[in-house]
Amino acid sequence: MKRATFLKYLALSPLIPAAMKLNALNKLMEEPENGTLMPVLFIGHGSPMNAIEDNRFTRGMKEIGKNLPTPKAILMISAHWETVGSKVTKQELPPTIHDFGGFPRQLFETQYPAPGSPWLAQETIAELPKYHVDLSDQWGFDHGAWSVAINLYPNANIPMVQLSLDVNKTAAEHYDMARELHALRKRGVLIIGSGNMVHSFRYAMMNGPDFNASFGHDWAWEANEIFKKKIEENDYTSLTKYTMLGDAVRKAIPTPEHYLPMLYSLAMRNDNDGLKFFNDDAVGGSFTMTSFQLG
Ligand code: ZN
Repeated sequence: MKRATFLKYLALSPLIPAAMKLNALNKLMEEPENGTLMPVLFIGHGSPMNAIEDNRFTRGMKEIGKNLPTPKAILMISAHWETVGSKVTKQELPPTIHDFGGFPRQLFETQYPAPGSPWLAQETIAELPKYHVDLSDQWGFDHGAWSVAINLYPNANIPMVQLSLDVNKTAAEHYDMARELHALRKRGVLIIGSGNMVHSFRYAMMNGPDFNASFGHDWAWEANEIFKKKIEENDYTSLTKYTMLGDAVRKAIPTPEHYLPMLYSLAMRNDNDGLKFFNDDAVGGSFTMTSFQLG
């Protein structure tokens, strides 16, 4: 049904209660008529130094950033905010969190002063009526969020909200919850998952002085190829049951927090979305930077 026909039907039909009409109308008014969908990103964030370094990965992110439509706001799901229950940041001006140690002073002095978005925090909660999501002022932008955003939007002019990872959810439960957020794409919201699909400190190994040199153990490359193939096939069922995907994948995901943000991004996928991988490489033996854009 065309939008105009639907509006007439909605206004005239005696079968639809007034409150429901109002609700449906409000929803329609919020969404652009052409239903343009914002793209979705999953970004392998890697070293916190990517916030301030000029390297092939940060150039890869900047290139993607240049070609994105300007979003109304960003909803960021970072590996570095795990909570009991789900939370969203509610502040007008969230602090930049330097949640790492042993890096140069310049990194600790770097701020990402993007505003928050109480509007998007409320929208996120509204899209998740089946879930309990709390507003939080106990977080801000962690390095998983701002080290990525600073490359995509260096002017820090796009409001950003973080959604936490609930430690009590299974991967399938994270995916299902993320699906519910899909409608935000129609409202100018850029959804970004920030993690690393292959992420294991246990097998980390330097191959020369440059951490970002291309270097991965055989199993890391193998896991990377499995993930890419499953993402191409949109085989989210296998990806949520990742412990069944073999030894390489089990080594790649010793703990799920860097993997789960990828499931949030994948859950936003539409049938018509294009899929583009970028920064597709392994570093430090047991980390992949492999990132993708949908739409
Ligand atoms: Zn990380």
